[in-house]
Amino acid sequence: MNLPEHFSPSAAERLKSLTEKYPTPFLALDLSIVKSRYIELEQGFPDADIFYAVKANPADEVIQLLADSGASFDIASPQELDKVLKHGVSPDRMSYGNTIKKASAVKYFFEKGVRLYATDSEADLRNIAVNAPGAKIYIRVLTDGSEGADWPLSRKFGCNPEMAIELAVLAKDLGLQPYGVSFHVGSQQRDIDVWDGAIAKVKVINERLSTEHGIEIQMINMGGGFPANYIQKTNDFSTYAEEIKRFLKEDFPEELPRIILEPGRSLVGDAGVIVSEVVLISRKSSTALERWVYTDVGMFNGLIETLGEAIKYPLSTSKSGPEEEVILAGPTCDSLDIMYEQHKYELPLSLEIGDYVYWFSTGAYTTSYSSIEFNGFPPLDYYIL
Ligand SMILES: *Cc1c(COP(=O)(O)O)cnc(C)c1O
Repeated sequence: MNLPEHFSPSAAERLKSLTEKYPTPFLALDLSIVKSRYIELEQGFPDADIFYAVKANPADEVIQLLADSGASFDIASPQELDKVLKHGVSPDRMSYGNTIKKASAVKYFFEKGVRLYATDSEADLRNIAVNAPGAKIYIRVLTDGSEGADWPLSRKFGCNPEMAIELAVLAKDLGLQPYGVSFHVGSQQRDIDVWDGAIAKVKVINERLSTEHGIEIQMINMGGGFPANYIQKTNDFSTYAEEIKRFLKEDFPEELPRIILEPGRSLVGDAGVIVSEVVLISRKSSTALERWVYTDVGMFNGLIETLGEAIKYPLSTSKSGPEEEVILAGPTCDSLDIMYEQHKYELPLSLEIGDYVYWFSTGAYTTSYSSIEFNGFPPLDYYIL
């Protein structure tokens, strides 16, 4: 088995010893890759503040590494807040980025010292005004980001620009500080031009707030969306950074507001490898051409982003030689638990029960998305590589 080239030469040896030591399936996380992705992001956007989207991988080691590196954190629940606070991160390096919040949760964030809140609706804004009086808010606008994104996030969140303006005005009336505008172009966004449209939308909102209402927006939160390396090719991160900075310069030629980025996937995705074992190989009839390969990892213990075959992870196995097409499925008693049937992965003909299947770029949205005991299978474990 060869690890992808972003791993250091010694990583294969370390992965081997983890595999000898622990039962599969598990996620092995290489923190040096998280660190280098963080540095790359800082260098690509030297003037931006990076708020790590904790949901992508809430491992304590990842949070600590990013906290030590100077990152801020985008947090979505009181439980995530407690987790990040435990690492000694000051609340002025946190935002409550979820637009769907209970009153008790807003109150809890406020008590803990968090003063930056996302919103996209009147009811949520009023909730913030009551439970986090005087806080800074940023308004999330809808984007057309389902285009080009392998894991769209756009439809559920954000409001249209007209409503964003109304909310900023209302925020001021309610004693809150209308501080910024945010968007998220969709996760694993392969079309860089989507940022152009979103930034242009923010520019129009800012201009109208300034000229019609005397409200000066001070921050743009550009969300996440930067890609990890899956099967479908994406541009290099440097191309994303250069293009997006060009869009910003075009729309804000004189003075750029504070820029916040909220990467999740692009920081942790490529740092992970899931090691799984082949549980069963079968054919559905004696003449069937395709083998079904069932692994001990599946939809319910880490691979939910294969739903609709949206995310296609690069794969490798402990065998080599001639390959043929397979259908890949997980170990549970649910027919949803099929990872890839349409997309034809090819695995070695020599593959046998007990061999390993390695799932690369699985550091994001795997452990955190794992169910807790479906069919008794435990959530996906992880180890530091
Ligand atoms: C999930 C999420 C992110 C992270 O998105 P990625 O595509 O993983 O980078 C950032 N911001 C918000 C508000 C999110 O919900």
